[in-house]
Amino acid sequence: MIKTTVSTAERSLQKTGRRTIDLEQFKVELASQGVPREHFALVCPVCKTVQSRQDFVTLKVSRTLEEAQKYWDYSCIGRFFPGVGCDWTLGGLFQLHTLEIDPGEGEKPFPCFEPATAEEAQKHMENNL
Ligand SMILES: [Zn+2]
Repeated sequence: MIKTTVSTAERSLQKTGRRTIDLEQFKVELASQGVPREHFALVCPVCKTVQSRQDFVTLKVSRTLEEAQKYWDYSCIGRFFPGVGCDWTLGGLFQLHTLEIDPGEGEKPFPCFEPATAEEAQKHMENNL
């Protein structure tokens, strides 16, 4: 069968090497990891380190999970805890991210680390308990 329609996500991927999803889709992808919320895992696009909000608390980078939320989807944990990961942040000059979240309501999409696979997230949680 010949595919005649291209989804919006596929179109954005073809144009920029990136995909754009909405917040609902982002939540669905995290929930599909099958781990508790604090262990939802994202991947640094540069060093491929898998990180969860719990990591930021465990390594005392953040005092609370809420505080970890500010960095978790945007900056590699190595930026705050040398020796783990790297110092990448999506706020820099070079744009290497592959995922953007469209918040809707006419707001500009923002860059975000990609969710880990369910296997990566579960392994990461087990290794860090
Ligand atoms: Zn990194």
